[in-house]
Amino acid sequence: MTHHDAHQHPAGQGKEVRRFTSEMRFPELLYLVEIIKGLGVTLRHLLHNLLSPSSMPVISYPEERRPYGLLFRGRHYIRAREDGTPRCVACMMCATVCPARCITITAEESPDGSIEKRPKSFTIDGLRCVMCGFCVDACPAEAIYMSGEYEMAEYTREECVWDLDFLMNRPSLKGAPPGYRPLE
Ligand code: SF4
Ligand code: SF4
Repeated sequence: MTHHDAHQHPAGQGKEVRRFTSEMRFPELLYLVEIIKGLGVTLRHLLHNLLSPSSMPVISYPEERRPYGLLFRGRHYIRAREDGTPRCVACMMCATVCPARCITITAEESPDGSIEKRPKSFTIDGLRCVMCGFCVDACPAEAIYMSGEYEMAEYTREECVWDLDFLMNRPSLKGAPPGYRPLE
């Protein structure tokens, strides 16, 4: 009589199928052996990581940060002309192509005769945006780019709706690489 009822795998590949029966020994019934084996694996990894932390596939975020590629699609920004006005001409191309319908633009006539329209308001709902970059691809004025910013957690929904002022003026982007834009 064995402690386990074992037989050959039906596919005939020699695999032993173990059935747990009432004839198992008491420690086996409590899974004690398997628990101790599992803890042994955990302990082995813990000691390995403690003794050679550089081999761990993690970084100590936020003290350490990974460098992202220049084409990383982070939070958007609106570029300004030399006189500080937005390059956006309120053509609605970005809002039209946006699959998440998260761009809302109100247009108004531009005082600059060479430009037909400008945005009176321009918002992106960051909670709905899927960071696809289609808006950047569609923009004919190269007005909207995506930065390398990826820390976008906020405490309120309102803070996640980015308006024109926020999209144009972020000190954190001063001197930062231009971020995602099409055809590059
Ligand atoms: S990145 Fe995509 S989802 Fe986000 S605003 Fe642009 S088009 Fe819309
Ligand atoms: S596509 Fe470009 S120019 Fe047109 S509304 Fe969007 S940001 Fe402005």
